[in-house]
Amino acid sequence: MGTPGSEFDDEVLRAAAEFTDAPLLAALSLALGDPSLLRDDLRPDLTIPIDPMAGWTPDMLAAAQQLAFDALRRWRDAGCPSPPVVPVGQLRPVIEYTVGGPVPDDYLPLLYEELGGEGDDPRAPRFRAGDLAPDRRMRVAVVGAGMSGLVAAHRLAQAGVEHVVIEKNDDVGGTWLENSYPGCRVDVSNHFYSYSFAQKADWPNYFSPRDVLLDYFRRCSEEFGILPNIRFGTEVVAATWDEESATWDVELRTASGSEHLKVEAVVFAVGQLNRPHLPEIEGIDSFAGPSFHSARWDHDVDLAGKRVAVIGNGASGAQFIPIVAEQAAALAVFQRTPNWLLPAPDYQAPIPEGKLWLFRHVPSYNQWYRFWLFYRTADALLPAAEVMDGWDDPGSVSPANALARAYMQAHLEEQFADRPDLLEKVLPAYPPFAKRMVFDNGSWAGALKRPNVELVTDPIVRITPTGVETSAGHFDADVIVYATGFLASHFLEPVRITGRAGADLHETWKGDARAYLGITIPGFPNLFCLYGPNTNIVVNGSIIYFSECAVRYMLGCLELLLRDGYDALDVRKSVHDAYNEDVDAANRQRVWGAVDVHSWYKNALGRVSQNWPFTLQEYWRRTVTPDPDEYELLHATRRPAG
Ligand SMILES: Cc1cc2nc3c(=O)[nH]c(=O)nc-3n(C[C@H](O)[C@H](O)[C@H](O)COP(=O)(O)OP(=O)(O)OC[C@H]3O[C@@H](n4cnc5c(N)ncnc54)[C@H](O)[C@@H]3O)c2cc1C
Repeated sequence: MGTPGSEFDDEVLRAAAEFTDAPLLAALSLALGDPSLLRDDLRPDLTIPIDPMAGWTPDMLAAAQQLAFDALRRWRDAGCPSPPVVPVGQLRPVIEYTVGGPVPDDYLPLLYEELGGEGDDPRAPRFRAGDLAPDRRMRVAVVGAGMSGLVAAHRLAQAGVEHVVIEKNDDVGGTWLENSYPGCRVDVSNHFYSYSFAQKADWPNYFSPRDVLLDYFRRCSEEFGILPNIRFGTEVVAATWDEESATWDVELRTASGSEHLKVEAVVFAVGQLNRPHLPEIEGIDSFAGPSFHSARWDHDVDLAGKRVAVIGNGASGAQFIPIVAEQAAALAVFQRTPNWLLPAPDYQAPIPEGKLWLFRHVPSYNQWYRFWLFYRTADALLPAAEVMDGWDDPGSVSPANALARAYMQAHLEEQFADRPDLLEKVLPAYPPFAKRMVFDNGSWAGALKRPNVELVTDPIVRITPTGVETSAGHFDADVIVYATGFLASHFLEPVRITGRAGADLHETWKGDARAYLGITIPGFPNLFCLYGPNTNIVVNGSIIYFSECAVRYMLGCLELLLRDGYDALDVRKSVHDAYNEDVDAANRQRVWGAVDVHSWYKNALGRVSQNWPFTLQEYWRRTVTPDPDEYELLHATRRPAG
């Protein structure tokens, strides 16, 4: 056996250096202990919204590639050393190089945590229930075994809290189990759309397809020993708070009937996008052929040679329409609002060998790459979604937003240069980021330009037994596919939830769901939501990040109860209301709240009930530890039996 790294010849290193980016220079500077790699003239500029080169010109890129190649050779020739463990406090210059400028002090703890700087799993609970309160019973029911329920179960197990996960499906994965439509994939890069405590160096794609994600969540549930605690094929239909015993009575529907569980706390991890939405169109039940929603894809229906109507063109539609277009004899796409397309040439591409090599071999590159994505695609993008007072342009809300618009408009104009008739239909009038963007590698234009495809923008009047009728005429169809999204603002439905003094949650909400930090609701003690109201993001970021933060907060609440000897906590209404006012005011200053365009972010009352309007850092800051003063702390008057 030769020295470590001797098998990596210059050709391998040269091919890998082609994929140089700022995080690679950061990782190499640490591996070699050489800060000179963090050259000022090669600082990225993350203030330019959605610039794939992060401000690097071709000359800068070439210089960075040469620098990385030389560094890789040095690293190999030194026997591929791992970087010494650097105290997180000393990482600041490396962080500031990677993000292209100074980072506020209050941001650093989060960035260290994202880098795994304070230990391999810095978000893990730091307590054990048995140590805090050896004689106390604390049982938790987690509803849902999607991404959020799994992280909750994992953390509860780490804290030694007795729990059970109730899942209506027969498998884990939630979104990634139910959405099996062709082309389904994540549109947040996988190094970020993955658990912070379960990173992978070998994602096959930058944006993995559904099967890869489902496999990831299955493997995580096996690896973390979650499966034995899940009751599959069981649905929670009701939960009722018992004031005296400070417990929840959870009613389950199982294959063999109804059952009740008594627990001290309930965690609803039921997702925002779990109940398909079918539009209220006259005659929807009259269609004689097969019809289905994208999240209930009927794989028994062969679309080859059929006349297919697709209603809706949002994130799911944009993924499967290009594939269906290749199979169908004729495809009519019914569009209500066009999408902004975010150019993403690598959207469906496998990660090239050179880049994979870097992930597999260069120490800490994986973490720095994830960290870079976290910073540049999330908080660095938020300013482009903020409304600038006095900015007078119907197509944008600020100079940064106008810049993003110009970039994406140029992409659309280029894609549809030969089809001005289509360009007119696909160019959004509304500002970018008012709706979620669709990632595009050219397949959308490719599909719409096919001779067998028609993009229909006339309003639908009704569904008939033989197809779809619009104000302009009738489209004959053999199959109708609804890409019409989910009942996103119907949080926690259809579960009947009864809290203190017999209050019904859905009557309390009246269709306008709110929660403190998206997690706790006044009058409903020891009930926690994950991916709850106002914890969705638009410009970017990953829901996994939110769920990890919310789970840590939930564990913090349980810790507080166990440590201080209380049985329940109920968020103060004044705290909840003041928080929601802040969120609403901020959402009105974000393009998705300020602009009048139809989106799933607003509920039936027109309030943005889905989205988080602040930075990711702000959510982290607010959820690190619960503040006991924000809660009414309660004692049971009668201890539950058993
Ligand atoms: C097509 C699609 C693409 C997406 N792409 C992205 C993306 O690129 N990036 C991103 O960040 N997010 C994306 N999302 C959002 C996605 O939903 C979240 O990222 C994440 O999967 C949510 O996980 P969850 O566990 O909170 O909810 P879900 O995955 O929806 O899981 C909820 C679980 O709860 C179960 N459940 C619900 N009600 C009950 C009940 N009463 N009793 C028992 N079980 C119940 C469900 O069966 C399900 O298993 C996408 C969503 C969709 C639909």
